[in-house]
Amino acid sequence: MTSVGKEEWAIVVSGLTKHYGEVVAVDEVSFKVPQGEIFALLGPNGAGKTTTIRMLVGLSCPTAGDAQVAGFGIGADLVRLKETVGVVPETSNLYEELTLLQNLIFMAELYGVPRGERRGRAERLLAEFGLLDMRETIFRNLSRGFKRRLTIAAALIHSPQVLFLDEPTLGLDVMAARNLREMIRELNRDGTTVFLTTHNIPEAEALANRVGIIVKGRLIALESPEALRLKAQAATIIELNLERLPEPVIEDFSALPFVSQAYKEGDSRLRVVLEEVTSPAREAPAGPAGIYEVIQLAQSKGLRIRSLSTIRPTLEDAFVQLTGVEAEVMRMDKVSSPGARPGSSGGGD
Ligand code: ATP
Repeated sequence: MTSVGKEEWAIVVSGLTKHYGEVVAVDEVSFKVPQGEIFALLGPNGAGKTTTIRMLVGLSCPTAGDAQVAGFGIGADLVRLKETVGVVPETSNLYEELTLLQNLIFMAELYGVPRGERRGRAERLLAEFGLLDMRETIFRNLSRGFKRRLTIAAALIHSPQVLFLDEPTLGLDVMAARNLREMIRELNRDGTTVFLTTHNIPEAEALANRVGIIVKGRLIALESPEALRLKAQAATIIELNLERLPEPVIEDFSALPFVSQAYKEGDSRLRVVLEEVTSPAREAPAGPAGIYEVIQLAQSKGLRIRSLSTIRPTLEDAFVQLTGVEAEVMRMDKVSSPGARPGSSGGGD
């Protein structure tokens, strides 16, 4: 592990950049992840999350910058790097026609686990992941949730120090996603550093010690979920529940002088973020005065207000404030989003 003072860093990233022709997928990203942390890279579709993981595990060459994972340089020590990291890609890398046990034994062989230990390790992992009874089942016949479980088990076959998971719960139902999160926590409690990507804000909040927010290839914030929420609490958010909310009027609210942001929440709710109560530069009428002006504007636009409330900012609100990316966009399931590229985790560049 790379040592900085007393701290042990599992991941050190400096100026990491990846260009695909004109597209800057990852743009001078720098951060450090201490050993034993669960770190989430959170961002919308196309933000550069998968590209970052791929560079960190040696599947893709950076255009510029460098990184060490478990003390091994991603360019220099590729073989050692692969021995020390586990990777759970978004699309499973296991063999559809092999049984669960065969898949794990094959992965053990691939990762250089000594022959005599392969079966024992495979069976132990199957037991830990609640899959032992299904060991002779063909992988193809598993549900999505169980497939994801086995894919994680396979990534652990060589006892990696750092586990990378790309969108681990994408496409899973609520229960399967919850089980998987608990499994990730347990792995972490046992000492594995976890680096995961997600576009699911509650998932980042529930799992991660720290969250890095990435938008258009740039890391724009890196804090604990709590610190991100506190940042958002510096502002007042009011929510208007309206009978209907025509998209064009949202801009009129954003344009009010004391409003830092206005966005749609659900079908007909409008959230308006007022600047801090004391804004000496502008003497902005935030707080109650701001609320009054928001109501006036709503009325002048003919919007009927069903109810109005001041809300406690969530991590979602913090995210929207920091990035300008609407929570609705984040909730879009990538599987069904139009820009999705199938199998973006597999293959070479
Ligand atoms: P998603 O969750 O949709 O996969 P992401 O945050 O993981 O999003 P990336 O897959 O890393 O984002 O993509 C970042 C940008 O790089 C996007 O604009 C994407 O289209 C582009 N990109 C990624 N891989 C390639 C590639 N092999 N060739 C060309 N462009 C690519």
